[in-house]
Amino acid sequence: MVSTIRENRSKFFKVKCPDCDNEQTIFEKASTVVKCVVCGRDLATPTGGKANLKAEIVQELQ
Ligand SMILES: [Zn+2]
Repeated sequence: MVSTIRENRSKFFKVKCPDCDNEQTIFEKASTVVKCVVCGRDLATPTGGKANLKAEIVQELQ
């Protein structure tokens, strides 16, 4: 599930919550924990650079 992204441009990802299938958009370099708006599950955690995504990416938005 971990995809390697070498580009330096920031992106948004549309991700799907593994718990409730809610789809929402996450900034690639999120600086705070991103939670599912429906069930509250952590979808991404900050790492100082790119966020550590914990949800399935369904689409890249540029
Ligand atoms: Zn959810």
